[in-house]
Amino acid sequence: MKKRVIVVGGGYAGVKALQIAAKSNLKVTLIDQHSYHYLQTESYDLVASKIPIEESFIYLPTLVKGINKEFEFIQDKAIGINENRLIGEKDSYEFDYLLIATGSVTRFIEGFAKKGKYSLGVKSLRAALKVKQFFEKELFDRLEPNVAKRSFNIAVIGGGLSGVEIASEMQNFFNHYSKNNALACGRIKIQLISKEILKELPLKVRKRAIKRLESLGVEFVPHLVEKVEERIAILENGERLGFDFAVFAGGIAPSPFINSLDLPKNRYGFLQPDRFLRVKNNIFVAGDCAELKNKGTPIPPTAQTAEKSGKAAMLNIIRAASNKPLKSYKIKLYGLAIALGGRYALNIAPGGIVIEGFLAYLGKKGIEKFYKLPLKKRAALGLNHLARCETPKKPYPQPILAQ
Ligand SMILES: Cc1cc2nc3c(=O)[nH]c(=O)nc-3n(C[C@H](O)[C@H](O)[C@H](O)COP(=O)(O)OP(=O)(O)OC[C@H]3O[C@@H](n4cnc5c(N)ncnc54)[C@H](O)[C@@H]3O)c2cc1C
Repeated sequence: MKKRVIVVGGGYAGVKALQIAAKSNLKVTLIDQHSYHYLQTESYDLVASKIPIEESFIYLPTLVKGINKEFEFIQDKAIGINENRLIGEKDSYEFDYLLIATGSVTRFIEGFAKKGKYSLGVKSLRAALKVKQFFEKELFDRLEPNVAKRSFNIAVIGGGLSGVEIASEMQNFFNHYSKNNALACGRIKIQLISKEILKELPLKVRKRAIKRLESLGVEFVPHLVEKVEERIAILENGERLGFDFAVFAGGIAPSPFINSLDLPKNRYGFLQPDRFLRVKNNIFVAGDCAELKNKGTPIPPTAQTAEKSGKAAMLNIIRAASNKPLKSYKIKLYGLAIALGGRYALNIAPGGIVIEGFLAYLGKKGIEKFYKLPLKKRAALGLNHLARCETPKKPYPQPILAQ
């Protein structure tokens, strides 16, 4: 009988794991709370209205069938594990092997409401869309001269990869928008609040990124935000900084599902797997929800890390299912690409070579397309193996609005 594998979480790690399992003899089910794979790495383009929503996700039911028509997708939210059953809100699911790939969520600071009216994160598609809508509404309102005279201040809190990408893309979009529409007045100011910018990266890269942010007009506030009150960020030096809207990109916490699990974790609550990416005999982990290391050094939680760990974990599940010895995971990262507004990016190629500007932008877009297009193709293929929604055979008897 085929071994049953459940992959919980259809993000970068989970989807990669499914692709690896495609040619195996396993019975694989993907469970995700949402029906889509959110392309988080492109959310900076979404919030700045550079790409439409259709470019920001891949539909999981068709993607899963496109990867392997025998695989199954179930939309449910995992809330626990009991022996060899994954407990969901709707049902429970038996497994021989489980891969946990539920990613991370925004680690909000004190006062930063999760569903705030004036502040949001971008780690979910819903939140990113709300930021985009807020931004667009503000641009629309500013066509009224009275409104446009007022300065509008967006605070981006957090100077890591996501904060930098969002601040530069939003500022660039607004600069372009004003110029293109010959707007006489009005100013949207982006303030990037963070003690340091891209602190894990080499100094020369950080300096170049800051120069680019400044040239766009992003104001850099080199402080830590201690807490947030309605429309006010309180800095560690006691200074109070007003904002009209804040985007929080100041850190991550493991997905809440992880909190419910009695499995090895580090002091921040991230799962701590062994060298085979196992947290228990038949339970493996990959992606942002785990603390991953290379020779003792933590590996940054990125989409690249998630994909590579998803692959390594699934290969070990395949080995375990056929009683073969497991292999230690090794994650080798191939550079990093940072979008810096418009057709401008900064790429750190393997070997530490830094490429900046339009060429780097082409590289960044190439990476995104190289990831997305094959998945879109798979999803299109999967449509053939999935019952389509029924469309009404006859027109509706009456227009709905007339009722
Ligand atoms: C603005 C921004 C820009 C970024 N840019 C880059 C970049 O340029 N390059 C890069 O490499 N990385 C980038 N990252 C980081 C990257 O997006 C993450 O590291 C990556 O998404 C992690 O993948 P994952 O599979 O672990 O988790 P995710 O992609 O977050 O997927 C987790 C999945 O689990 C599901 N899930 C969660 N809880 C449950 C539950 N209880 N039950 C069922 N399903 C659940 C979620 O719905 C989701 O589908 C960026 C992140 C942001 C926010």
